[in-house]
Amino acid sequence: MDNYHRFSELLLKSRYAVALTGAGISVESGIPDFRGQNGLWTKYDPVEYGHIDSFRANPAKVWKMLMDVGALVEGVNPNEAHMALGDLEKLGIIKMVITQNIDSLHQRGGSSNVVEFHGNFRSMHCDYCQKSFLREDISLVSLPPLCSCGGPIRPDVILFGEAIPAEAYSRAFDAAEKCDLMLVVGTSASVMPASRLPLIAKKRGAHVLEINPVASELTMSTTEIHIAEPASVALSNILKIVK
Ligand code: ZN
Repeated sequence: MDNYHRFSELLLKSRYAVALTGAGISVESGIPDFRGQNGLWTKYDPVEYGHIDSFRANPAKVWKMLMDVGALVEGVNPNEAHMALGDLEKLGIIKMVITQNIDSLHQRGGSSNVVEFHGNFRSMHCDYCQKSFLREDISLVSLPPLCSCGGPIRPDVILFGEAIPAEAYSRAFDAAEKCDLMLVVGTSASVMPASRLPLIAKKRGAHVLEINPVASELTMSTTEIHIAEPASVALSNILKIVK
């Protein structure tokens, strides 16, 4: 049996399958990996522009970087890989998507149970009083946008120096403990603490399957079956077989 059929068979047999996704799944939508070549962090120094202390010292400066992030995530559409994961949820196979992406493309691609490990750009909050806002209600004509209390408003994405949102953290780690299959897509899972999720799943006896064009450290240490293809190609094929 080839890897695609083995992959699909394990998915069909699973009781609680969870997908863990990262930058690679959105590259095909036109969002370069922030950490890769041509990524956000080659243009902006991550500490100077991406750290919570920098935001508190000079929110207008950090908002320059955030405007670029906004333009990236708001100017693209979900691709076949996002859609296939949405379809696999509708078929009752994938129970949850844990993503390190902040682009909301999983929800737009049809997934409803999405844990956003690093937050999202759809909603914002005041850094002083924590009041919540929707992105579309915030004018970005003058930066930073300000709350009525005078505090700077920021997107609900985590900056360097901040913890993973508590609810996302506990939902993701609970899922890693309880799943019997973890499908890793478009991430080398090398950034802590998300990198621990496949290790926990494996330790608890779950099958760890991986879709990444290039082998990662995870492939060598943890992955049971690796498909070395772009996410859209691999997931479309799997969806066809499963159906
Ligand atoms: Zn406020």
